[in-house]
Amino acid sequence: MAQSPPRPRVLIFPLPLQGPVNSMLKLSELLCLGGLHVTFLVTDHIDARLRRYSNVQSRFHSYPGFRLQAISDGLPENHPRGDKFLEVFESMKVHTKPLFKELLQSGGGGEGGDRISCVIADGGLEFPLDVAEEVGIPLFIVRTISAACLWVFFCLPQLIQSGELPFTGDDDLDVMVKSVPGMERYLRRRDLPSFCRSGNPPLHAHLKAKLAATGASLPDFSNSLWEEDRFCLVWLDDQPPKSVLYVSFGSLATVTRDQLMEFWHGLVNSGQRFLWVIRQDSVAGESQVPMELLQGSEERGFVVYWAPQEEVLAHPAVGGFLTHSGWNSTLESAYEGVPMICWPYFLDQQVNSRLVEEEWKLGFDMKDTCDRSVIEKTVRNLMEVRKDEFQRSAAQMASSAKTSLGDGGSSFSHLERLIQDIKDKSV
Ligand code: UDP
Repeated sequence: MAQSPPRPRVLIFPLPLQGPVNSMLKLSELLCLGGLHVTFLVTDHIDARLRRYSNVQSRFHSYPGFRLQAISDGLPENHPRGDKFLEVFESMKVHTKPLFKELLQSGGGGEGGDRISCVIADGGLEFPLDVAEEVGIPLFIVRTISAACLWVFFCLPQLIQSGELPFTGDDDLDVMVKSVPGMERYLRRRDLPSFCRSGNPPLHAHLKAKLAATGASLPDFSNSLWEEDRFCLVWLDDQPPKSVLYVSFGSLATVTRDQLMEFWHGLVNSGQRFLWVIRQDSVAGESQVPMELLQGSEERGFVVYWAPQEEVLAHPAVGGFLTHSGWNSTLESAYEGVPMICWPYFLDQQVNSRLVEEEWKLGFDMKDTCDRSVIEKTVRNLMEVRKDEFQRSAAQMASSAKTSLGDGGSSFSHLERLIQDIKDKSV
């Protein structure tokens, strides 16, 4: 009897950062459900963290075609990768590229005799495109940023040619962008990706690992690269519905000590309840906040190093999200119907925050301001004064998101098409 051909094996290769790893793991799970075999390729460093802190291994146990595979980024184990992620990318171009080529040429070594027939790589990694072309394997590029920001990236040459870029922080940042039709409707200079401002400090971030055992119960779902403090969910259980502002600036953004203090005073003075993620490496200098400012109402504020964010946003006690507007955080908040206050840090976040306020009416864009009285007022506006209006628009957005993901919805249909494309290209 003729044997059926092995299933197509897709190799998925994310950037070695929390946001892309999270979203591409979700894509992997969907492709497994769609009947494909998946090799999820990450650097040694990310592999070790996923095995330690997430439940990826147990969760993917039910997909025998799934394989988590590691590849070296060429850096010593003790390299402070998060502090210097541009160094990681440079090293990967030199050291990981040949290893990746060998992997594709060898077929990937699937146990069922299947070979890698297609690659899905993060567009932020450049070399997979060259290697896949050389080896003759079809490649799909995934961009883990919003379509609106990708459009801005594509238009950068046009903006430079027209003389609109670069501009400095001293220029009028509220001038609308004119040279690309459509942009003048809602994008100001200040809403363009952070690197469009000349004199912008080089990209940097701090991702030092800090661990503290909590002994809390294991999550149902976690793609986390850090240990999640699950006690905050227990704390949330005791708070009234939609009363808590969740505060997190993602996995890379850093704040100065002065900014931390402005946020702390603004939050405390707003009188609202808040749950704040302060990563141990997110503050230049000392990172302790003066808890005594809560003056006998300490139950109003809860601070953790790292939270199970998606579970937090889905919790009925959460009524708002003060966010750095990372694309994952924005989608997660929109999906759960949580209105936002945006304080973008860099790259696409400047664009995302503008969309949240101006296009989607899901909250406030607080970019380029870090002042305790503004923070206090904005938090009150979101959580009290205009609460009903924002809760309504956020609920509508969540409902659209769910429709698009449901059977026959636009995201659902696009995914089906992607799976079919992969199958067609794998014959
Ligand atoms: N995240 C988390 N716990 C936290 C803070 C963030 O699980 O305490 C997750 C969050 O759910 C999101 C990712 O980290 O999936 C951050 O990605 P995003 O694109 O929002 O920002 P980035 O970290 O890339 O700047």
